[in-house]
Amino acid sequence: MKMELKTKNMEDFLTILGKNDDDATKGGIYLSNDDELIKESVEHLKKGYDKEKYTFIESKYTNRNIKEYVPLEIFRLMIMIMMKKIKELNSEITLYDIGYEFGRHINPKNYMELKKFFRKNNLGVLKIESKNPIIIKVNDCALCDGLESNEPICYFDAGVLAGAYECILNKTVVVDEIRCMAQGADACYFKIEPVK
Ligand SMILES: [Zn+2]
Repeated sequence: MKMELKTKNMEDFLTILGKNDDDATKGGIYLSNDDELIKESVEHLKKGYDKEKYTFIESKYTNRNIKEYVPLEIFRLMIMIMMKKIKELNSEITLYDIGYEFGRHINPKNYMELKKFFRKNNLGVLKIESKNPIIIKVNDCALCDGLESNEPICYFDAGVLAGAYECILNKTVVVDEIRCMAQGADACYFKIEPVK
């Protein structure tokens, strides 16, 4: 299920990201009609945090009566099923693209802001493994820790990093997961390359 971004036609890739479309919304991505809702949700994720207790304040976020965290396994299962379906549709770039849009909405100004967002939301612990090329190490990856695969599977994370790094660097990047915890690696490693 490897996402061969490097072998993909770059024109196609940029079209997917909305870069080649004159009608693309400012910012260079296709924005759904639910854009405001997504934006609002991301803002909640950023704000709804008790810094001292280091927990998410769910009451600020929802009126739902069952205010308990949904097990991480449910989301992993959803992602695994999504990946299976996406593979059946030969559209492995989809999960990356979803992550990309999420990353754009996080809209971090710099690496530290992105690192904090990941840590606060227990998505993983980021560390810069290398600066040239940029390689980001993600410890305790929420998506794949505990799963087994013979290939990297964190397409969503790769997309999030792509969207976020595009905001940080102010240029289009392509992100490739080079090693994954699901393969037995100690962490997930993502290589971030600006598109020339
Ligand atoms: Zn991974």
